[in-house]
Amino acid sequence: MPDCGFFLQLAIPTPLRRSFDYLPVDADTAGLMPGMRLRVPFGRTSQVGMLLGWRQTTDAARPREVGECLDPLPLLPTGIMALLQWASDYYAHPIGEVIFSALPSLLRQGEPAERRGMEHWRMTCCGAMQVPGQLTRAPRQAALLRLLTEHPEGLSASAINDLQDNWRPAMHKLAEKEWVLREQRPALLLPESGISDETPALNAEQQSALASLTTGLGHFGVSLLDGVTGSGKTEVYLRLIAQVLARGEQALVLVPEIGLTPQLLDRFRCRFPVPMAVLHSGLSDRERLDAWLAARDGDAAIVIGTRSAVFTPLARPGVIILDEEHDASFKQQDGFRYSARDVAVKRAQLENIPVLLGSATPSLETLHNARQGRYAHLLLSERAGNARHPELAVLDVRKQPMNSGLSLALVNAMRRHLDADGQVLLFLNRRGYAPTLLCHDCGWVAKCRRCDAHMTLFAGQKRLRCHHCGSERPADPACPECRGTELRPVGAGTERLEEALQSLFPDTGMVRIDRDTTRRKGAMQALLDSVHAGHVRILVGTQMLAKGHHFPEVTLVGMVDVDQGLFSADFRATERMAQLITQVAGRAGRAERPGQVLIQTHHPDHPLLQLLLREGYAAFACAALEERQQANLPPFSYLALLRAEAVDGELPLRFLRQARELAEALQVHGVQLLGPIPAPMERRAGRVRAQLLLQANRRADLHRLLGPWLQKLETDKLGRKVRWSIDVDPQEMF
Ligand code: ADP
Ligand code: ZN
Ligand code: ZN
Repeated sequence: MPDCGFFLQLAIPTPLRRSFDYLPVDADTAGLMPGMRLRVPFGRTSQVGMLLGWRQTTDAARPREVGECLDPLPLLPTGIMALLQWASDYYAHPIGEVIFSALPSLLRQGEPAERRGMEHWRMTCCGAMQVPGQLTRAPRQAALLRLLTEHPEGLSASAINDLQDNWRPAMHKLAEKEWVLREQRPALLLPESGISDETPALNAEQQSALASLTTGLGHFGVSLLDGVTGSGKTEVYLRLIAQVLARGEQALVLVPEIGLTPQLLDRFRCRFPVPMAVLHSGLSDRERLDAWLAARDGDAAIVIGTRSAVFTPLARPGVIILDEEHDASFKQQDGFRYSARDVAVKRAQLENIPVLLGSATPSLETLHNARQGRYAHLLLSERAGNARHPELAVLDVRKQPMNSGLSLALVNAMRRHLDADGQVLLFLNRRGYAPTLLCHDCGWVAKCRRCDAHMTLFAGQKRLRCHHCGSERPADPACPECRGTELRPVGAGTERLEEALQSLFPDTGMVRIDRDTTRRKGAMQALLDSVHAGHVRILVGTQMLAKGHHFPEVTLVGMVDVDQGLFSADFRATERMAQLITQVAGRAGRAERPGQVLIQTHHPDHPLLQLLLREGYAAFACAALEERQQANLPPFSYLALLRAEAVDGELPLRFLRQARELAEALQVHGVQLLGPIPAPMERRAGRVRAQLLLQANRRADLHRLLGPWLQKLETDKLGRKVRWSIDVDPQEMF
């Protein structure tokens, strides 16, 4: 028994904000260390818990004995354990859920932390001598043989899955003939055979950014790399990573959900002759565990991943790079609501390494930190390699005749660019055919039965779908109120825009890129390939188009509707709109062809929009920060949002009123309580929702309240009847 205490303190994935005490078996704790998993009895079942430490005393009435220990060594290094503890405190989220959500799911389930490698198939010499065409009576075998001929280095089972259904029986037939071979390989992206040492000479701004970053290696510091799209930020990342690798350290690169494109991975693979681990939501559980372990054990020199990869342990951390730091997908919006950007900064501090935040449109929070001198501000103001900036202009659509959301001026501009052999990109952040279906006879509108929202019409499938709860039904052929048949779609989504464009430009190749057209595996890539092949001249899409993809042939970008962003209840709406316009504009004219961006709006004189167009994002951000300061909104104050929802419409507000009283009783100075009020969309997915906002001028005040307050709420009777959650630094105010 260690003299530091008798009881084992464990984190267990439950919604309770506390740890749990257990007794060791036979006082045999010699080999136990924090960070190891133990199987423990919990209620009537058993759970996998993680050892946090030892305690002298316990408040458990009858502590139970732990079960078997699952790890011979701690699963997580102390730095990550400290990070998770910090995140649990900061986001006021239960430690058990925080720790276990940071683990690959096989480890959550108690599987051993072992690498098994991935199933790969490759052709044997004997197979290479076969002619697939001869297998006329076994077309599946022939197809597989052809596939493996194209990939002499072999293919992973999951890659084959993407390309062919039900391939295993045929593959096993080929294996019996010894034409193909099954192998287990590490779940790492191995270097390409042809590593290119062709690297462009850095321009002056890139050089000075890199010099500053170089001196930052080996200790904590935050830098913002603020550079327009195409200014060569990625090139700077690559140079910095080269130095990190030369120091024998690992690099962690975080990208937004949609930013993790094959093009980006290829760029990394072509540059570095090292194994890389890629962590994203498309991996199988086994692949994820293998990649995670390769990162932890130091076998992956570069680790690239989306949001949750910020918690991936590294044996020799050297740098964290977060690309598109403003992107909303870095914020987890349910369960354990954390910001991967803010966690990355904290992690870098704990591990004493630098962190680099990159963006063409930095968030106001990050810009504020840079201005305060907390972050180094590195600017890349010019597009790399002579590409010119696009030209932005508004199209005033007031009183203009519109065709499915398109003004005549925009259609004419499209004609001009298409005639000059340009590609045109039309951007509309609304999926489906129309956001509203209206009865022209009586005014009835198709509404969601579970939300305070209109149903979106999807004309292709003749269905109505709610974007808030996902419920669906066939589109009504007649009005359920008056039986009239004059049902009319109102407003336009991408589907309708595409239909209108097909009749306006009947002989022009076009694609639509949104969640509906890219649902199938590989569909996105196929659409992008068709764009780059050149016969597609018009692209229509949602914000999926604004991220990560480059369209060098695009000379005109049309923003079909930005008005929602100008007058929203959410104080971040203008910031997001400006980021979106700038990001979408960045897709145009990257090469030698200058781009033009036309923005349709009913509010051409909106001051922030005007500023953005005349002087660019930096000037916009400056003015927007001033507005925030005057309104005492983040980053000049700190927010937390307590949300509650229940089927019984009375309960959420009652619970929040009580929560407010509990908070007032704690008498923490410096925290203002605003509300409770009904949520902007009061009913969603059949539940009624309300919220209470906490605002403080000092972060410490807010956190002084949160800890004890949530302990009280957890034991509150009313709190058990509603579903409630706390969101620290909320990004969405509903
Ligand atoms: P960003 O990440 O800021 O969008 P990239 O690093 O992708 O910019 O650079 C845009 C393009 O310019 C890429 O094709 C890249 O290879 C090229 N590039 C970057 N830096 C230079 C440079 N110093 N000289 C010439 N071309 C460059
Ligand atoms: Zn009607
Ligand atoms: Zn709904």
